[in-house]
Amino acid sequence: MTARKTPGIRVEAVRNGHGIVARKAFRPGDLVCSIKGTIVSSEQVWRYWDKDPRMAANCMRYDEDQYLNPEGEIGAFANHSCAPNSFVFKEGRRLVFRAIKPIAAHDEITHDYATLIGADDIWKMRCNCGESRCRKTVQSFHKLPAGTLRRYKALGAVPDFILATL
Ligand SMILES: [Zn+2]
Repeated sequence: MTARKTPGIRVEAVRNGHGIVARKAFRPGDLVCSIKGTIVSSEQVWRYWDKDPRMAANCMRYDEDQYLNPEGEIGAFANHSCAPNSFVFKEGRRLVFRAIKPIAAHDEITHDYATLIGADDIWKMRCNCGESRCRKTVQSFHKLPAGTLRRYKALGAVPDFILATL
């Protein structure tokens, strides 16, 4: 793996390829890690789609018109779950993973991609997270089931720049 070492987590083989796995327990609210990467424009992400769709799909929305490309960093291995144990939060100028449930050592750290997919993002994917309540498709936050969206909003997990895309 090329990702730099980050205390408390590491990249391992998981259900869907490689993922981020806890090496210690985290409590709800704990910082799992800050997500490093390069801030790129939405035009740049369009160019990635042409030559490296995997890289494009890994980019995380950062604000109205920018994305964070975590290539070469641990964030590139973050997998989606329809029943996530963390979320990506924007804190100041950085994106971070924070636990929203108790996470035990050896658990995969997952988040719900939908919280960073705006209504103006066209990306979606078939989901294979294996959760009993899997939505089968990951797409924009505004297509989340109403109860799920309400819960996510109450946790502050849908950034303002995503809410503003509606
Ligand atoms: Zn799922």
